[in-house]
Amino acid sequence: MTNSVGNEWAAALITEIKDPKNYIISSENAVVIYDKYPKARHHYLVLPKAVIPDVFHLNLGHLSLLEEMHFLAQNVIEVKSFQLDDFKIGFHAQPSMQRLHLHVISKDFVSDCLKKKRHWVNFNTEIFLQYQDACIKRFTKEKIEELTASTLQCNQCEFGAKKLPDLKRHLLEHWAQRQSDKFLF
Ligand SMILES: [Zn+2]
Ligand SMILES: [Zn+2]
Repeated sequence: MTNSVGNEWAAALITEIKDPKNYIISSENAVVIYDKYPKARHHYLVLPKAVIPDVFHLNLGHLSLLEEMHFLAQNVIEVKSFQLDDFKIGFHAQPSMQRLHLHVISKDFVSDCLKKKRHWVNFNTEIFLQYQDACIKRFTKEKIEELTASTLQCNQCEFGAKKLPDLKRHLLEHWAQRQSDKFLF
């Protein structure tokens, strides 16, 4: 089950992508906007202008569109003067919105919008289909529940948490450490 906020955003997204003033950057066939409920410090969505519901509706004819979307994903990181290595780029195997969207998200996962274990699992387990893996597979509801119920593994070290608040505290420590490292250089 998606939450109601997610559903509202899914609907709002359709109008959002019609208005060019919401675009951070765009190309002939795709646009980049801010994710309204960022699950990390920096979180963008790349969307095709054409109506494609989700990854399961992609076919070989979409290859050049996918390349264009991936190019925009890398480009928005560059435009914002961030490092490519600090980001993940990929799709969800369980689409949450009515439009195909490629996530561009910073790996810190420090965000007030990260409220559920499911949010973490969506981006940090095999549910997140990294663009470069280019392998689209479906997950069963049971598999997703299993992933959500198991230990939440930190994406930056060996730490594992049973509860989301513990993981969030831990992620904040990583982020604070990185900020102070940057400050030193
Ligand atoms: Zn998504
Ligand atoms: Zn860690």
